[in-house]
Amino acid sequence: MNEYDTELIRSILAEKGFTFTDSEQDADVILLNTCSVRENANRKIFELIHRIRHDRQGVPAIFGILGCMATNLREELISDPHLDLDLIVGPDSYKKLPDLIQKAGKEKSFDIQLSDTETYEDIYPNRESAANAWIAIMRGCNNFCSYCVVPYTRGRERSRSPKGIVNETRKLVKEGFAQVTLLGQNVNSYSYKDTRFPDLVRQVCDVEGVKRVWFTSPHPKDVADELIELIARHPKLCKHIHLPLQAGSNEVLKKKNRPYTKEHYLTIVDKLRAACPEIAITTDIIVGFPTETDEQFKDTVDVYNKVGYDSAFIFKYSPRKLTKAERDYKNDVPEKVKTERILLLNDLQQKFALQRNQAMIGKTLESLIDNIRPNAVEGRTIHNKRTQIAAKTSEIGKLRLGETLSVKIHDATPHLLKCRLADSHKNP
Ligand code: SAH
Ligand code: SF4
Repeated sequence: MNEYDTELIRSILAEKGFTFTDSEQDADVILLNTCSVRENANRKIFELIHRIRHDRQGVPAIFGILGCMATNLREELISDPHLDLDLIVGPDSYKKLPDLIQKAGKEKSFDIQLSDTETYEDIYPNRESAANAWIAIMRGCNNFCSYCVVPYTRGRERSRSPKGIVNETRKLVKEGFAQVTLLGQNVNSYSYKDTRFPDLVRQVCDVEGVKRVWFTSPHPKDVADELIELIARHPKLCKHIHLPLQAGSNEVLKKKNRPYTKEHYLTIVDKLRAACPEIAITTDIIVGFPTETDEQFKDTVDVYNKVGYDSAFIFKYSPRKLTKAERDYKNDVPEKVKTERILLLNDLQQKFALQRNQAMIGKTLESLIDNIRPNAVEGRTIHNKRTQIAAKTSEIGKLRLGETLSVKIHDATPHLLKCRLADSHKNP
C-alpha cells in the first residue's frame, strides 16, 4: 500500500513541476513515506532520518514524514528537536503536499486530517514497473482488531468506483502492464453502490489484454462463496489467497477482535481447496498477544499443520499507541516465549513451503516475467510463486517485462522454483 501511495505522491508532485533524484545528497526535499504497523517499522524510520542527516553533513533540505507515522505520532514527531522535521503529512492529505512543501520552506508544516471520502480516484499514479501495477480499490479499515493501529492511522473504509478502476485497468494494459493487483486493508469488504468485491474482481479480470489479476489482503469474515468460485474458475485470477489467520485459538481471536473461529477459518480453507486444489494459501500470524498461553498457542500450530501454508509472515506482538490492546492489556508474554513461538512457526513455515514447492517439480507452467537482469530472469506462476528461469544471454536479450513464458520446474527451495524454458516456451 505504501509503494502505491508513493506512486500517487510522485504523480501529485510531478504535476506541480517537482523532479526526482535517486540520491539523497542532491535532494532539496526529502519525504519518507512511513508505516506504523509494528514498532520495528517506526524504529527503521528514526534510524533512516539520522543516517540521511549524517550523510548530508549539515546541508539543509526540507525534511518530511508522510503516511501512518504522521497520524500515529502527531505532535510527538513535529516537536522532537532531535528529529528537527519540517513537514508531517498523513495518508489522506497528499493532494495538499505541493502547498505544504512551499509552506515548510518558511515554517513547520502539518496536516494529519483523516477523510471519510478521499480515494485519490482522480490521480493516476506515476508507476515504474511494467509487469505489475497496484490499484488501491479501497482505503482505511473499520475492523479495529484490538492490536492494530491502521484504523487510527488510515481512517474509515471507503471504496473507489468500479468504473474508475476498470478504466484505469484498460489504461494500464495500453501502457504495457500485464498484471493488476487490487489493494485494500480489508480488500474484500469493497463496496460501491450495488457493486460488491466479487463483481468488481470479475469486471477487472474481464478487461481485454490484462493477463493476470490478484488482490490483497482479504479478511476471512468477508470471503464469499462467489469469490471462491471466481478464484477457481477465472483463468486470469491468481490461484493464491493471502488469508491472515492472526491466531488459532478462539479465545485469542476474540481478544484480538477477529470475528471468526478456528473452525470457520478451516472451513474456508476446505472450500478453497475443494474448489481449486492447486491454490496457494499464505497468512499473517501474531505470536505472544497479551495472555496467550502455551495451550492457546498450540491451536495456532494446529491450524498451521492442518493448512500447511505455502508461506507466512509471522510477527511478535508489539503494543501500538491508541489501540484497545495497548490500553486494556499488559504486554505480559515474555520476550523469550515470543521468540520460542516465532522460531517454532518459522520451522513449520520452512518445512511446508519446501514441501509445497517440491510438489511442483516436473510441472510445466506459465511464468509472468517481472525481473530481467543481465544473467538472470525471474517471474511468477499463477500461484504467485517466484520462479528463477535459466536462460541463455542471447535469449534474455529478447525478453520483455510482463511477457509470459512456458517453464519447466526442475528444483525448489522454500521460496523459489528453479525452472528451465520449456521446449515451446513463447506464449502469446
Ligand atoms: N489488513 C491486513 C493486515 C494489515 S497489517 C489484515 O487484516 O490482514 C499486516 C500485519 O501486521 C497484520 O496482518 C498483523 O499480522 C501484523 N500486525 C498488525 N498489528 C500488529 C502488532 N501490534 N504487533 C504485531 N504484528 C502486528
Ligand atoms: Fe488492522 Fe484488522 Fe484492519 Fe487488518 S483488518 S488493517 S489487522 S484492523
